[in-house]
Amino acid sequence: MGDIFSHFFVLGGIAIYKILHQIIFLIIISIVLISSIFIPTLNSYTNQNSIFQNNIILNPDGFIWPIPGYTKITSPFGRRNSPTAGASSYHYGTDIGAPEGTNLVAVADGKISFLGFLGAGGYTLTLSFESFKVTYCHISPNYLVKEGDIVLQGQVIAKVGPKYVYGVPGNKYKDSNGKPTNGATTGCHLHLGVRINDKYINPLECF
Ligand SMILES: [Zn+2]
Repeated sequence: MGDIFSHFFVLGGIAIYKILHQIIFLIIISIVLISSIFIPTLNSYTNQNSIFQNNIILNPDGFIWPIPGYTKITSPFGRRNSPTAGASSYHYGTDIGAPEGTNLVAVADGKISFLGFLGAGGYTLTLSFESFKVTYCHISPNYLVKEGDIVLQGQVIAKVGPKYVYGVPGNKYKDSNGKPTNGATTGCHLHLGVRINDKYINPLECF
């Protein structure tokens, strides 16, 4: 009798063992499936703030915002109705409204590669690094840096300029009353332009 009972007990044990084995197998399969679904999603989420070109991450750390305290986009990158004579109908930058004298900071470590009055951009500063050229337009003519300076990310490199500038040779931009303006502008703002290998991109992709 004892032998029969122990025989059933062993059979029962084997059945439970087989069921447990199948449950563990199913759990492992589930983990593998869930991982393969979610891990690519996580990757694309972490990468969405970076610029990709030929699958190379050009700004792995991102830019910092160029105009602390001001985030109102007054004119986005892309096609638009020209707001004033001489302003392009395709807008190669992002306009951020701010009063005259607002600090402008370097979006990344780089070199001041241009500083001067540049047609529609008015008083303009260009910051260069790697394959990037970042342009700040309509700035104050009271420069804080000079061409060739190496600057650090976050350093104040310029200030938002006045709407009107006087005595600039060759400035053809003016308002409806004939007063000369700081390039093609209807009011104080930062025009931020970003080029990669001399091709303009939407600056907002950099943050
Ligand atoms: Zn603009």
